[in-house]
Amino acid sequence: MRDTDVLIVGAGLSGIGAAHRLQAARPRDRYAILEQRPAIGGTWDLFRFPGVRSDSDMYTFAYPFRPWRGSRSLAAGAEIRQYIVDTAREGGIDRHVHHGTTVLGADWSGDRWTVRTDRDTWTARFLHLCAGYYAYDRGHLPDFPGVGDYAGTLVHPQAWPEDLDWAGRQVVVIGSGATAVTLVPARGRVRGDLIARGAVGAAAVVAIVVSAVAVVQATQKVDVEIDYPEGSPQDFAQDWFETHDRDHVGYVTIDEVLKYEDKVFKRFDADHDGKLTFKEFAGGIPPDQANYLAANHIRFDKMDADHDGTVSPREMEDYYRAFLKQIDKKGDGKITEAEWFAATIGNPEWYPTSVN
Ligand SMILES: Cc1cc2nc3c(=O)[nH]c(=O)nc-3n(C[C@H](O)[C@H](O)[C@H](O)COP(=O)(O)OP(=O)(O)OC[C@H]3O[C@@H](n4cnc5c(N)ncnc54)[C@H](O)[C@@H]3O)c2cc1C
Repeated sequence: MRDTDVLIVGAGLSGIGAAHRLQAARPRDRYAILEQRPAIGGTWDLFRFPGVRSDSDMYTFAYPFRPWRGSRSLAAGAEIRQYIVDTAREGGIDRHVHHGTTVLGADWSGDRWTVRTDRDTWTARFLHLCAGYYAYDRGHLPDFPGVGDYAGTLVHPQAWPEDLDWAGRQVVVIGSGATAVTLVPARGRVRGDLIARGAVGAAAVVAIVVSAVAVVQATQKVDVEIDYPEGSPQDFAQDWFETHDRDHVGYVTIDEVLKYEDKVFKRFDADHDGKLTFKEFAGGIPPDQANYLAANHIRFDKMDADHDGTVSPREMEDYYRAFLKQIDKKGDGKITEAEWFAATIGNPEWYPTSVN
């Protein structure tokens, strides 16, 4: 039997925050944090699906006593995890965490709580439950009739396999909540269905429908548009891809792109002198899209290999060929949409992440 003044259950954002405040307000009180997992961070350590991030802005989500200094307002899961771990370490809170200790029950008697764990029993004057709001051992998975017949891979974001290779696979995301809208852009535009509640019947032919936060790798092809915000880098990248992937096969070949860009060249070359000036090259960019204009400038300068202030069809072709070859990791001459998104979004040469 171990005794303390305050017992905190959980070393996630809440538990570490509670410990910090307790130390500040009542430095003489003894306390312990019981944590079932080997790590600090709770949610932000558990969830590892691609693109996992906060939905709240970090300037308000973070602790008031340790303001968020990151540059991104919606931070990646790993950054939040590190923030919680650093907070615990800096305050010496981590020394109070008893990992690998699962709380099984608590009883109040006299003036104390008796708290049973899978290792030992604690007594405490105060019990502070910071154990979160969902089951850690397995994510919510409704019972779908026929799920056993599904031959594809069924993935729940709460237990994302580290080695899951979903590039180039047909994917169905079931649910259209926060996790879905985080996951999908992380992969690039997905040829799959975002299935909301109520659409289950129709979707079942394609794949098994799971909870609001699950992903299925489907065996059957489905075609769907994800609507990215207008003017966003994703929107521009999607536009580019769709324009080039005319038969909607989910990839573009390098040859296709070269052919298409050659046509574009001729269209832009208003004075038909076989050279593009920057004005001709960037003529179609909306005037309020300064970032895209800047990106096009970088690209134009790269194409202009002989630095004469104009781009010839040959220079444009050389540029595209080199760029696409660099993206084409498999070397099969095909660029998938995911490859395109990964290579261009956030790349100042193409689509900067922030818009103006
Ligand atoms: C993908 C995702 C994104 C999210 N984004 C946001 C957001 O942007 N804004 C927002 O406000 N919220 C968000 N949330 C909710 C998020 O969980 C909370 O904001 C916050 O992280 C919860 O912190 P917590 O410490 O209360 O709980 P948790 O992070 O769940 O931590 C609970 C801890 O208690 C431990 N524990 C549980 N039961 C026991 C037991 N019996 N014995 C011992 N230890 C136990 C767990 O192992 C865990 O470490 C998000 C959640 C998810 C899953």
